[in-house]
Amino acid sequence: MKVLSVVIPLFNEEGNIEILYRELRDVFASLKIFSAYEIVMVNDGSRDDSLAIIKRLASLDNHVKIISFTRNFGHEAATFAGLCHATGDAVVLIDADRQDPADLILEFEKEFANGYHVVFGQRTKRLNESWVKRLTSRLFYPIFKWITGVDMPRNVGDFCLLSRKAVDQIKQFPERAIFVRGLIYWLGLPKKAVPFVRRGRGAGTSKYNYAKLLIFALENIVSFSTMPIYFIIFLALFLI
Ligand code: UDP
Ligand code: MG
Repeated sequence: MKVLSVVIPLFNEEGNIEILYRELRDVFASLKIFSAYEIVMVNDGSRDDSLAIIKRLASLDNHVKIISFTRNFGHEAATFAGLCHATGDAVVLIDADRQDPADLILEFEKEFANGYHVVFGQRTKRLNESWVKRLTSRLFYPIFKWITGVDMPRNVGDFCLLSRKAVDQIKQFPERAIFVRGLIYWLGLPKKAVPFVRRGRGAGTSKYNYAKLLIFALENIVSFSTMPIYFIIFLALFLI
């Protein structure tokens, strides 16, 4: 019997959680190789009704597990906590805002059955995204690859399926500022892309503004590479 875990980091997603939950239930009914499942909802210090909603879901459905943070620690921390508590043979990471179509999990399952350890949704189209966001994401991937040497595929978010082996390896990292999305590809396990069209958000607004995105991008590069340190040393020598 194989178990699938679905990890959902959520911060102020009261308008989306229940709809996503119902979509997931439909998907679970169609799974082929996973005969059991759990949903790990990670409340990242929401200030709206999200926690009350997931508590109600958990009281009605014992497949729903809850992790709740005392305050907002950020998307990456929530994802990592979810990975640490997920017990499945494979773990799907999905955003709460319904930008990631839940039914793609059925395609992920097929590729998992084909032996891939990292199966990720790759966006063919981005609906309702500003040109700034499109441009910055177009710049980030090549820069990240150039500086860190990690071949992170383009147009990929956190929507993916990870095998137990991949999850256990990621869990070994003691980092504070963890960049799950980069680490997944750093592992070098067999990976497979599944194309999809990324929808606009369901309810609510993005939890990232441009300043937060820039800091996120820099933090990820710095946590993956010593090149910025060398750069500063060489720059200092050059200036001297
Ligand atoms: N999220 C979170 N903590 C945060 C910010 C976001 O758990 O501090 C969750 C959010 O609820 C969503 C996912 O992370 O499920 C992605 O966030 P968002 O949709 O705001 O990012 P975007 O799609 O705009 O990149
Ligand atoms: Mg989103």
